[in-house]
Amino acid sequence: MWRATVFTLFPEMFPGPLGVSLASEALAREAWSIEIRDIRAHGFGRHRAVDDTPAGGGPGMVIRADVLAASLDAGLDEGDTRPRLVLSPRGAPFTQARARILVAGEGAVLICGRFEGIDERIVAARGLEEISIGDYVLSGGEIAAYAVLDACVRLLPGVMGAQASGVEESFEAGLLEYPHYTRPREWEGRAIPDVLLSGDHAKIKAWREAEALALTRARRPDLLKRT
Ligand code: SAH
Repeated sequence: MWRATVFTLFPEMFPGPLGVSLASEALAREAWSIEIRDIRAHGFGRHRAVDDTPAGGGPGMVIRADVLAASLDAGLDEGDTRPRLVLSPRGAPFTQARARILVAGEGAVLICGRFEGIDERIVAARGLEEISIGDYVLSGGEIAAYAVLDACVRLLPGVMGAQASGVEESFEAGLLEYPHYTRPREWEGRAIPDVLLSGDHAKIKAWREAEALALTRARRPDLLKRT
């Protein structure tokens, strides 16, 4: 079973959106599991303080390395070799390729930041890796963790309805996906492209490849440069 462990200051946010549809059905079938660890359980004092002011000054608060370390050390087994990912806008971009690599493994540990982020020293001290879900700033790592887990879980064997629907999708071939159509054949004066109704599978495939390439060139030329 693919195992996710999430460290968060807001345990009530889980499973959240992962508790519906595909991810939830997969959870019920034990294709994957999710454990939530409340970082605050290792906070200091009566108020379970987890953060402090930034060294050097500046706005906001920083999650303490000692608190997070105590939470990680208590919440993970010593022999646990799953990747430990800290959600962070400064991290390496999370990609479909990375999702594939993650699902091929035993699972993932996800650490959700809050406030200004976490004390830098924890990253090296506990072998963490920073990953980002995009070039924008969220108020916490939880929504980013949903994104990472959702992208992984749908790739687990048997989770997607038709297994094939995973292979042709956007990014899998370094391209955006071709456009989709369904009934009715004509809608508000707009017709489904003839080729898709031709029944000629070779022609359909060629059309889709050309559309995917044109779309990628127009919207995401950076994807073409990567390969
Ligand atoms: N001061 C930080 C932003 C902190 S946002 C900076 O400028 O880099 C608070 C938390 O939200 C972060 O610790 C991280 O866990 C999460 N977060 C925000 N944006 C994210 C993104 N694009 N990808 C992943 N996690 C993100």
